[in-house]
Amino acid sequence: MERATTAPPDRTAGTTVACPHCERAVAVPVPDEDADPTVSTRVAAFGDHTVAHCSAGHRFWVYYC
Ligand SMILES: [Zn+2]
Repeated sequence: MERATTAPPDRTAGTTVACPHCERAVAVPVPDEDADPTVSTRVAAFGDHTVAHCSAGHRFWVYYC
């Protein structure tokens, strides 16, 4: 893995996950670099999570365990 020599344009950490509906790559924020994003098609009332939308208009939830 190469280390960038220039400052990244955005300090917010992020990663991509696959949309559970169509498997498109969707960029999601990661609050902690140690967080492991887990995709869910259903909302659950626990843990840190964010709502993601893929480019095809699907909505899903990403949890950080
Ligand atoms: Zn999708």
